[in-house]
Amino acid sequence: MGDRREALAKMFTAKGGRVNTNRGQAYYDSLMDMMNRRLLELEAMPSASRTSIKSVLEAEGLNRRDFMKWASAATAMLMLPAQFTPLVAKAAEVMNRVPIIWLELQDCAGNSEAILRSDAPTIDELILEVVSLEFNETLMAAAGHQAEEHLEEAMKTFNGKYLCVVEGSIPVGTGKEWCTIGARAETFEDHLRHVASGAAALVAVGTCATFGGVPAAAPNPTGAVGVQDVIKNKPVINIPACPANPANITGTILHFVLTGQVPELDHLGRPKFAFGYRIHDNCERRAHFDAGEFVEEWGDEGAKNNFCLYKMGCKGPMTFNNCSIVRYNEAVNWPIGAGHGCIGCSEPQFWDKYAYERPMADARIKAPTGGVEKTVDEFGLGLLTAAGIGIGIHAAISMAAGKKEGDA
Ligand code: SF4
Ligand code: SF4
Repeated sequence: MGDRREALAKMFTAKGGRVNTNRGQAYYDSLMDMMNRRLLELEAMPSASRTSIKSVLEAEGLNRRDFMKWASAATAMLMLPAQFTPLVAKAAEVMNRVPIIWLELQDCAGNSEAILRSDAPTIDELILEVVSLEFNETLMAAAGHQAEEHLEEAMKTFNGKYLCVVEGSIPVGTGKEWCTIGARAETFEDHLRHVASGAAALVAVGTCATFGGVPAAAPNPTGAVGVQDVIKNKPVINIPACPANPANITGTILHFVLTGQVPELDHLGRPKFAFGYRIHDNCERRAHFDAGEFVEEWGDEGAKNNFCLYKMGCKGPMTFNNCSIVRYNEAVNWPIGAGHGCIGCSEPQFWDKYAYERPMADARIKAPTGGVEKTVDEFGLGLLTAAGIGIGIHAAISMAAGKKEGDA
């Protein structure tokens, strides 16, 4: 495990992509001061959860060395220089001072399942066991009135301090009345507004909570939207993907623990440390794209040779996410590695816009030979032209050969 983590740390450090990974010494010095002060404050606070990182790691047979290797990879992932590694490790240890209220709305619970169902949990997943999860309908034993009372109590005790993590979309259209919670029959929208009112910030986990996801696919019968469309007066951090990568959830919480602030976000509200990378730019099949070598049909020779999946509908050129670097299941593999193209699950309206097995006609991508952004049609024209030249040369050679044969 350690070797893979070290490799990941190196990849993050090497692959700056479109992300600014060097901001100068003065910036990092003041950041380190600020983080040190924040961690000291948190350390002095009573732990809101009885679970410690030490006990969780011991239960899984992991030692301090494994933990520090994880901290080094997490530091690189957060785009921090290596000298921040001890602070990231400390942040994981005091993570249980930051209370979390986790809401389950219109969804399949796939993000929770992705974290819980791992038979060999990663340290990212284990760390989520350490956070002070004050309320989570999927995990908690309490139900009914007892659960409602627990929620109200947690909101009162940690008013203004808790992170509200939301999984699932919010129906605000015709379907608004179909989804209600508790004895007061609150709609999901009212429930979210109520819990968000006392939160320090909201973290929308998975594509349903960020952009509406599958429930928002045409014709969107419930009028599903994401958290940012409902909550306008609090910071909302979007961690899309289907499911969201546990490494990105942990990274976002770690950043909040370290700074008390929201990480730098892109124009879609996604942390840049996780979504500043285009799948296509870090894909192991990219050399085949550049060489014009494509899978043309499932199971063909190209598929057997791991050629590029663009012609089978891969949306890697239009999708921003770090799964080509972080991967899934302890970095064992990821969708393109397993042989299927990216379906753009971390982008808005992915189900309608990207989740089909054909290339997009109007997409702008890098041409194999040029390095210039072109549309797929222009790109296709280039290939056709090349093929045309090839056919022309072949015809000319054949004609010349035929003439020679005739001459003889
Ligand atoms: S089109 Fe898809 S499979 Fe091909 S290089 Fe880009 S991301 Fe990888
Ligand atoms: S490869 Fe694409 S579809 Fe698959 S998880 Fe990553 S972003 Fe989502």
